[in-house]
Amino acid sequence: MGSRVASRVRQKLERAFPKFLSHLGKCKFYNCRHHSRPNCTITATIKISETSTMRHDLFKQLVHEAAQTIGY
Ligand SMILES: [Zn+2]
Repeated sequence: MGSRVASRVRQKLERAFPKFLSHLGKCKFYNCRHHSRPNCTITATIKISETSTMRHDLFKQLVHEAAQTIGY
């Protein structure tokens, strides 16, 4: 399995946060989950561009899923 789930999660991320994927490679932390590190580039980007708490929650959920399935 794995790859099909991974591409589904990736699609969800792309749809909800088109800016997110272009920033994925820019995080300087190894094994970062992109939601609790104060200096995480991706977290900062989302916080600046998405002010809605609901969207940030969705982001965290999607990143969690992505971390589990794709390894981001
Ligand atoms: Zn990060």
